[in-house]
Order: sequence, then C-alpha cells, then structure tokens
Amino acid sequence: MVNIAADVWAHADVEPGRVAIRSPRTITYRELRQANERVAGAVRGAGVRPLDRVLFIAPSIPEFPEIYYGLHAAGATVITMNTMATPAEIGYVLDDAGVALVIAWHDCAASAVAAAKERGLPCWRVEPGFAFDAEPLRDVHQHESDDTALILYTSGTTGRPKGAELTAANLVDTVSSFEPVLNLSKDDRFGTGLPLFHVYGQAVCMNTTLATGASFSLVHPFDPARMLEVMVADRLTSLAGVPTMWNAMLHVEGDYTPEDFSALRMATSGGASLPVEVIRAFNERFACTILEGYGLTESTGAATFNDLNRPQKAGTVGPPLPGTRIEIRDSEGNTLGPGEPGEVFIAGPTVMKGYWNRPDATAADLRDGWLRTGDIGSLDEDGYLSIVDRVKDLIIRGGYNVYPREVEEVLYEHPEIVEVAVVGIPDPHYGEEVAAVAVLSEGATATPETIRAWAKERLSAYKVPHVFAFVDALPKGATGKILKRAIDRDALRSIAT
Ligand code: ATP
Repeated sequence: MVNIAADVWAHADVEPGRVAIRSPRTITYRELRQANERVAGAVRGAGVRPLDRVLFIAPSIPEFPEIYYGLHAAGATVITMNTMATPAEIGYVLDDAGVALVIAWHDCAASAVAAAKERGLPCWRVEPGFAFDAEPLRDVHQHESDDTALILYTSGTTGRPKGAELTAANLVDTVSSFEPVLNLSKDDRFGTGLPLFHVYGQAVCMNTTLATGASFSLVHPFDPARMLEVMVADRLTSLAGVPTMWNAMLHVEGDYTPEDFSALRMATSGGASLPVEVIRAFNERFACTILEGYGLTESTGAATFNDLNRPQKAGTVGPPLPGTRIEIRDSEGNTLGPGEPGEVFIAGPTVMKGYWNRPDATAADLRDGWLRTGDIGSLDEDGYLSIVDRVKDLIIRGGYNVYPREVEEVLYEHPEIVEVAVVGIPDPHYGEEVAAVAVLSEGATATPETIRAWAKERLSAYKVPHVFAFVDALPKGATGKILKRAIDRDALRSIAT
C-alpha cells in the first residue's frame, strides 16, 4: 500500500515548520499538508473517487504541489499536461482518459475551460489565494502498488499521443532510486526551472525533494539571470535542468563571486545529451560538476545516473540506478556486448505499466518487463551507458550513419556557436544530407564557409554539415530541450539547392 503524498506528509508530522517551498514564496510542510488536505476534501466532495482521472494543468508555481499531492491523497489518477496545450489536445486527453474533473491554473486555463465545456465536464479555474470550501481529508488514500497513480501523455512524434500509465509503486520507486544517488538530505535546498507537468520536474525533482524533506525553489518562467539570483538568495545546494538551461546560465553576465555559489554541490542534467564542453564551462564558472542522467516518461524519468558515489564519466549518462537493468539489443533482438551500439532497453521498478487504452502500443514497446526506448546507445565495460542518439534522429548519408549528437559535440566547441542542432534533410544524391542550424554569439563573424572549414578539420568529410543556417533561437519543447522535429527542413533544403 503506497501513496507518494504519504511520504511528503510525513515531514509535516515530524517537523511541521520545516520549509517545503522556498521560492517564490515560503510554504512549510505543515502548510503544504493543510493545503493538500483541503484539495483532497474538495475533490472527494465533488464526487471524485479513487482512480477517477483528474486532469491538472499548471505551471511551476507553489500551488502546483499544493494541488498535486491533494489529488494523490484523494487517490485520484492524476494527469498533468503542458500549459501550452490547445483545446483540441486537451479534448483528446479528456476523451481518451475519461477524465472526471479538470483543474487549471487561471493564466493557462482558457484551453482547458473550452475543452471541458464542450464535453459538459466540471473545470475548476484556480487563482492565487484559492481556497476550497470543503471538509479537509485527513487520511492519505492507500493505493495498491499496481494502481495507476499518474498518466503522462507523450507528445507522439508519430500518430496519436499515448498516455504512459505510471503506478503508485513507480512513483515511490523513482524517489527511492534517486534519493541514495543524489545523497539528498532534508538540509538540501533544491532549485529548478523545469516544468512540473513533465516527468523530470515532477516525478524526479519535486517528488524526490519533498519526500526527502528538503526545500524546493522554483523559477518560473525559466530565466537564466533569475536562476542565478535564486541560487544566491536561497543558497541552493542542488539544481536540476536540461542542457539548454545550463548553456543559457553560462551566458549570464553579472558581478558574481565564487563565494555566491559556494553552497552548490551538484547539478543534475537530463532530457537531452549534455555536451562535454558545457560540463567543463559550468564547472569553471560555478565550481560544481553537472551529473548527467537518462530517463523517459515511460520509465518515470529514471534509468541511469552519473552519481557522486561512483566515478563519473563525462559524455556518458552513468550506470543504471539501483534496481534498474539496461540492455543493448540489435534490430533482431539479440543482446549486444560492451562497446556495441544498439537500441537501449530498460527493465526495473520504474518502468510503466503500459499505455492507457493502447494494448497495441504497449505490446510494441513493452515485452517481458523490458521497455524499448527508441534510443541508440552502448554500454562500456563498467556498465556505463552512452546515448549515441535517437533512432529517429539518425542520419543516413550515402549509406554511412551520421549521429547528429557527435557532430553537435564538435560544433559546440566552436567559440562563436551558442546553440546548435544537426538534422538530416532529403538529398537526391545521398538520400540524406547533414544540415546544422545554429545560434551564434553576439557580434559573431563566422560564416557557413568558415564553420564548415573549421568542422572539416575535426570530423570525417561525410559528417561535416553541408548546409548551415543561422537563427535567433531554436525551437524548444516543454522542458526546454531542442525540438528537432520543429526545425523547418524544407527551408534548409532550399538553402542546399
Ligand atoms: P515525446 O515522446 O513526448 O515526443 P520525448 O521523446 O522527449 O518527447 P521524454 O520522455 O520527455 O520524451 O524524453 C525521453 C527522451 O529524452 C529519451 O528517450 C531520450 O531520447 C532523451 N534523453 C533523456 N535523457 C537524455 C540524455 N541524458 N542524453 C540524451 N538523450 C536523453
């Protein structure tokens, strides 16, 4: 019998005055629990029964945990979605999951209100200072381990979005996998600018921090300069983010001294590959190493982590988390040995139960407890995983495999490249051609020709991008990772011809 809310509430019993949320306003564990009890009482009062689906849409604000753990305490199956979701996207989830109630934060509620209204569903639009007029629910609902506690829809690059069903045990096991490797204690001060509606901000960062009894600081919307201010003001010890965030923080100017960041002991990175150059520069500026991990929505955000207790290997995503197993398989399903790249498979306590209502997709991606990830990777002799690329991002140029990540790593070393994405574009001769879209630093003088010449000295000829486009910004997804599928390949193709 488990429930993630119980782990958080336990701190309110032991030390009610301890700070749970530190920024942008302070909430103690007692206040958090009281808010959760009122939310739980209100949703129960509205007729929501355990395992009824409740859709909750909110940004990374202190009210997020106030509502989220209230829903878990009531035993609802929680669904969180991107605050930018359209009425059609929300409508799809309402129908697919058979949602009973929608709760949406006022400044991103318009789409949810519209979609709920069309279906005659109740939609609560919550505002700062919200208070529900209901009898508080004092006891946490006890889930069976295998009950679906959370459904997160993956954006579905092909076809319809799929709802990954994460069980009560998955949520608790993600926390117990990370707690020992992060060496988190209740004296830690954890900060992030990640969205809490995504598995990484929610199941990894928020749940682990608050189940440990540490404090949580939120920067919303993510702004690198604001992040640095909060790091100093809150004396943050731990950070979590994605590579684009670290990169942006490195480019913030200001009168900071090394003492300002002296409380910082670790930064954890995931969601996308972390260029080794960014690790080096971050270490130089903040005297703190970035620990890279790897996970998916379907594995409750957990799989591997380059933790402080074992030697870290930059450029790898670390060994499996406790209880997790990783295998590399070829396209016929044979298990491959160290050093051989193939598709990454994950088994362990954080792997989802399946996709909601989608036995076909579940059977395709989950076999005998092994989750197929769609990522290409390899294990080294010590069991450390390196992510080479996504299967779908691989570029095949004239029969040669080009891994965009390898090319990006090299381009990140160019002094005038701030951010870069390498993609394949159709080519009549080679099948695919390598293209790069880059953001240059202010006042940069580089041209496609000079960068190409520079890259030629460092990469085999077939890997050197044939086409270069310079842009002001790259398209980014919910967590801030670069969205390659949103890069306009036709526009790149027209440059090529
Ligand atoms: P969606 O499925 O919703 O389109 P997504 O594929 O980004 O989005 P997520 O579950 O958010 O799904 O992210 C998981 C993916 O992120 C992994 O499959 C992997 O491709 C990538 N990823 C996560 N961590 C790392 C990492 N450290 N290095 C490289 N890639 C990573």
